[in-house]
Parts: sequence; C-alpha cells; structure tokens
Amino acid sequence: MEGNCLFCKIIAGEIPADKLYEDEEVIAFRDIAPQAPVHFLVIPKKHIQGPAAVAREDEELIGRLMRIGAKIAAQEGLSHYRVVFNNGEQAGQSVFHIHMHILGGRSMNWPPG
Ligand code: AMP
Repeated sequence: MEGNCLFCKIIAGEIPADKLYEDEEVIAFRDIAPQAPVHFLVIPKKHIQGPAAVAREDEELIGRLMRIGAKIAAQEGLSHYRVVFNNGEQAGQSVFHIHMHILGGRSMNWPPG
C-alpha cells in the first residue's frame, strides 16, 4: 500500500469501484471514464509504479493479469479487444500503479493517437 496511490485506496476499499474480479493478488474494475463500450482495468494488489518497474519476481503476477483479463473479456462478451499498458505521462499514464486496460465493443484504430 502506497499512501497516496488512488488504486491502492481502491484495493483497500477506501474508494469505491465497480469490481469485476478479486483474488488475493489481483483486482479488476470498470474504468470510471470508459473509452469504449467495455473498458476495465486489471491490476495487481502489489504497488508497482508501471511497466518499467516490473521486476523478475513479478513476472508471474503480470502474466496472471493477462489470463484474468481474458476471462473477464469473455464474460463481457468480447472476443476482439485491445490491451493497453501506459508507461509514463507522455504515453498517457495518469495513475502510477501498474494497470492493464482492456477495451472493446467497438472497432479500434491503429496506430493509436
Ligand atoms: P492511465 O491513464 O493509463 O494511467 O489510466 C488510468 C485510468 O484510471 C484512466 O482510464 C481513468 O479513467 C481511470 N480511473 C481513474 N480514477 C478511477 C477510479 N476511481 N475508478 C476507476 N477508474 C479510474
């Protein structure tokens, strides 16, 4: 738990979230400002600043995000979806607790803006 971290506060139950999944290591909840008809975040409970801060010991945990995200995407009726991790402000990271975005339910452009 990092004192000022928004997502640590969601994990601690101090800030409400529309949760889709939770276990000892991972939670998933709907994004508060969805950018697609389905948009949710899958995050580890461990506070990791972002993709560049992932350590060797976190490899399995980060792999679990992908597997859990895929299961939730299927439950949400998605077979086509985009997976995004932002690293750093210029890339669009605004919360410095690693999170995997899953977006779907509309067609997506490539390259992203
Ligand atoms: P990023 O910009 O990649 O750091 O993503 C952070 C995401 O967290 C954004 O898509 C926000 O809309 C989302 N977000 C911020 N506050 C909340 C919240 N309280 N509950 C759910 N999602 C949030």
